[in-house]
Amino acid sequence: MTRLRLLLGDQLNPRHAWFDTVSSDVLYVLMEVRQETDYVLHHAQKILAIFAAMRRLAQQLREAGHRVAYLCIDDAGNQASLTANLDRLIAQHSATAFEYQAPDEWRLDRQLADYAAQLSLPARCVDSAHFLTTRHDVADFFAARKRWTMEPFYRHMRQRHGVLLEPDGAPLGGRWNFDAENRKPWRGEPPEPPDLRPRHDHRALWARIQATGVKSFGEPSAAAFRWPIDRAEALAQLDAFVQHALPHFGTYQDALSHHATRLFHSLLSFALNVKMLDPSEVIARVTAAGRAGWAPLAAVEGFVRQILGWREYVRGVYWARMPGYPASNAFDHHRPLPEWFWTGGTQMACLRSAIGQSLAHAHAHHIQRLMVIGNFALLAGLDPQALHRWYLGIYIDAFEWVELPNTVGMSQFADGGLLATKPYAGSANYLHKMGDHCTGCTYRHAQRSGPRACPFNALYWDFLDRHRERLGANPRLAMPYRLLARMAPATRHALQQQAEAILARLDSL
Ligand code: FAD
Repeated sequence: MTRLRLLLGDQLNPRHAWFDTVSSDVLYVLMEVRQETDYVLHHAQKILAIFAAMRRLAQQLREAGHRVAYLCIDDAGNQASLTANLDRLIAQHSATAFEYQAPDEWRLDRQLADYAAQLSLPARCVDSAHFLTTRHDVADFFAARKRWTMEPFYRHMRQRHGVLLEPDGAPLGGRWNFDAENRKPWRGEPPEPPDLRPRHDHRALWARIQATGVKSFGEPSAAAFRWPIDRAEALAQLDAFVQHALPHFGTYQDALSHHATRLFHSLLSFALNVKMLDPSEVIARVTAAGRAGWAPLAAVEGFVRQILGWREYVRGVYWARMPGYPASNAFDHHRPLPEWFWTGGTQMACLRSAIGQSLAHAHAHHIQRLMVIGNFALLAGLDPQALHRWYLGIYIDAFEWVELPNTVGMSQFADGGLLATKPYAGSANYLHKMGDHCTGCTYRHAQRSGPRACPFNALYWDFLDRHRERLGANPRLAMPYRLLARMAPATRHALQQQAEAILARLDSL
């Protein structure tokens, strides 16, 4: 009797209950397949990170005495798809049962459910035991509410899991939310913490991947690769974050800087999303540091909000809105992405920095993703689906369940405002206030018109003007719409013309 258990590339939790006992009747299967490298064009580091981490887990399982079948991308018998390989392995090992952990992507969930349903042997889907909510908890929570805003869900999660609470159930420090204290620009002090992540030499693996013809973009950095590939490395990274960055995480959470790509962010999203780390252990570690007085409450709360709040919330939005969610396009935006999304070659310093960094490191922090790249895409009316594919491909942590609601919902408002109460749109004023890119940029942040005016300005006003019907009554946008109404018609006309000229030459900005 052989029970075949499939592990996907983002199911790399060595502490899953599956591994509690060693049995010669169980065969664990991991496979590197073209189906997964090719469904979208991926950053080279994302492919490398997932394959390297899968190989490491397979090795650790074998060392612990488990039976493992591992299919490398260049193995002669590799059939390129999950299900074709499963067919072959089931026959080869005369498997008597098939089991898999619930996938987090709709695409894989459907594929494996359909596959299991047609098998002639017993099949079972088990929980991946990673998240703090089920797929449908968020939808259930909002069923009786008018708006799907994250805040009440986050407070509910704090109460449900007893996180950062006083003994009487009130929020620690008397407030649920310290966002107001967490919006400072960074001017070089305190210094960015050291990057203590491991270095790996993946040149041999990269050569093998390339030899199969897998297409990718971005810098592979195979000789000095910086992403954790096992749980021990991920835990060391968590420790380093708590020790060096957490105390300042809150204060500079929204800052942007050309001089610091990581600032005080954790860079733990890859380790979390492939399940090397558990969200509850990360929350426990960070709140313990807060209790010990190592980090201020505003920093601890700001960080916990991201994981206990946003991460679980966007996953629930994803499951509530699939399969139609990727097609959302409330503003009817259809412009293709400018060429420099693939090269970083633009004169706009903030975008050159955010995209250049993404191509170099497969990572950009939240405000770069939201208020620089996403903001520009929204103002310029770029196609949200094309943008979704770009985000899904470029970031080391990009898996559809988390990437899609962030891109289509939060950053593009393409779902018409399910996830965000107003579009995250900002002019150069915002970028100048929160960042340091405007100094030395080809464009002038304070100018609205003329050849050197920052494109964000005309595009911002033109965006509000174009979408007045949909957004004009939004109370959170009352102020900019009042300013727009007060503008002289000639100024407004000039802004429109400036925006048209910008949109006509997006590729050469
Ligand atoms: P930190 O700033 O250190 O935050 C800690 C953790 O909180 C992160 O590791 C992540 O697990 C979680 N988190 C923070 N913000 C969010 C959020 N908005 N949604 C869900 N979890 C969050 N995150 C991904 O994990 N994968 C994606 O594909 C992804 N795509 C995004 C696309 C857009 C357009 C935007 C605006 C955001 C996206 N995010 C995504 C959310 C966020 O930007 C990243 O989680 C974060 O930048 C990862 O870096 P970090 O680990 O240093 O995060």
